[in-house]
Amino acid sequence: MIKRLLLVLLASAASASAQTTAFGTNATANATAPADSAATAPATKGASKAVEEEVDNSVVITPFRSLTPPEAKTSRTFQLSKVNKLGFTETTKELQRLYSAFATQRIIDGSPAGSSKATGYLATVNYALVQDLGDNRFLAKAAWPAAGPNEALAAGADTMAVLLLDKPAKVGDTGKITGMHVGTVALLFTANYAPLTGKRFTLRREAFVECATLEDSPAGLQKFVEAVIAGAEMSATTNEQIPCKKCGGVGFTREAQKGQLLDKRIPCADCVSSGKVIISVETKFIP
Ligand SMILES: [Zn+2]
Repeated sequence: MIKRLLLVLLASAASASAQTTAFGTNATANATAPADSAATAPATKGASKAVEEEVDNSVVITPFRSLTPPEAKTSRTFQLSKVNKLGFTETTKELQRLYSAFATQRIIDGSPAGSSKATGYLATVNYALVQDLGDNRFLAKAAWPAAGPNEALAAGADTMAVLLLDKPAKVGDTGKITGMHVGTVALLFTANYAPLTGKRFTLRREAFVECATLEDSPAGLQKFVEAVIAGAEMSATTNEQIPCKKCGGVGFTREAQKGQLLDKRIPCADCVSSGKVIISVETKFIP
């Protein structure tokens, strides 16, 4: 899935540069095929835009650092047939909470189930488009909150990012999308914004693909429950507060002192004496 999205992001880069070559802006292409370019290149354009022909406007996007996929520390199950039964932790309220998390972790696509598990962190990205890179890809000034356990995806504030949008847009547009982080990419391009206009260089930036998540609605929950009962494998990852294992939830450990009645209390470093730790838990749903 993620590979497909990256391909969308990257493959369109290849077609963009191919187009540039096809339009004759690539000097080497002209040199290697003089007869062809003489026959096809419009003479007027070639004469009046001689300076522009020196500028390489091709865009090349290559993966630089792949994303760190969300990884749960521990897993547990949620059994639908136990919901609201005496003696079990499964409740309607808990199901609703987990479904809400599930809905925000799935992206709607053409898969048979109607959605797939998001393979990167999903974040609300606020953006202002700075440069059009072709094929709905943009360089944008963006802001997004940190996501994932231990902020695996660091927050962005006024940060340049590469966005693949769903619909055509133009430079200067501002907006908000649900973006799936697809890792860091290396973007080779010629800037056309001040103060770097005309400069050709490589930027390494976080890349996001615009996507839609499942709707968190009663109808969606109903469909979800039916899918699990029918045997679909579904899970949601949430951050849960659990008692600290190291100190047993009391916030300190004891150390016996020779010749003294009272143990020495050592503040627990694992939970910063709070007695609680937050861990990422994957909950698998079973009928
Ligand atoms: Zn502790």
